[in-house]
Amino acid sequence: MFLGKLGNTNSKGYHHTGETRTKMSLTHKLVWSNPEYKHNQLKAINTQSRKRTDIELWLENTVKSLGYEYTTQKPYKFTVIDVFIEPNIALYADGCYWHSCPIHCPNSLPKRHMQDADKRTTMILEDQGFKVVRFWEHEIKENPEQVKAKITELLSYKA
Ligand SMILES: [Zn+2]
Repeated sequence: MFLGKLGNTNSKGYHHTGETRTKMSLTHKLVWSNPEYKHNQLKAINTQSRKRTDIELWLENTVKSLGYEYTTQKPYKFTVIDVFIEPNIALYADGCYWHSCPIHCPNSLPKRHMQDADKRTTMILEDQGFKVVRFWEHEIKENPEQVKAKITELLSYKA
């Protein structure tokens, strides 16, 4: 009788459902309140869904047209270098909106902090012996010949 009752209770799952729900919600809270986990999750989502922008492709094609070997989207510690050329040249193409260009989008909301983050990335890479050059979307779009000339000059110093 007693066992039968217990069995019924279990099969209806009243207690279990409630308990499981509480556990799940607690786990969810714990996981998402952990900044490191959240950061990694968001980074993973970001990497998966990340499409290369037209200015990044332009940068790649320009380096290619100059006849240099390169790597795109090279992960290095905390950053992903848009176009990397051995031994130490790191090129970035920064979108005006997403990187808060001071001329067009100084207060763009999504990545308001990006200017500082980009500066910090550049400084750290330079400290590690990289030669870092960042181009703004508007430089590339308004004056591609000038940007190409800069890249040509930069790469001509390459050993
Ligand atoms: Zn701009």
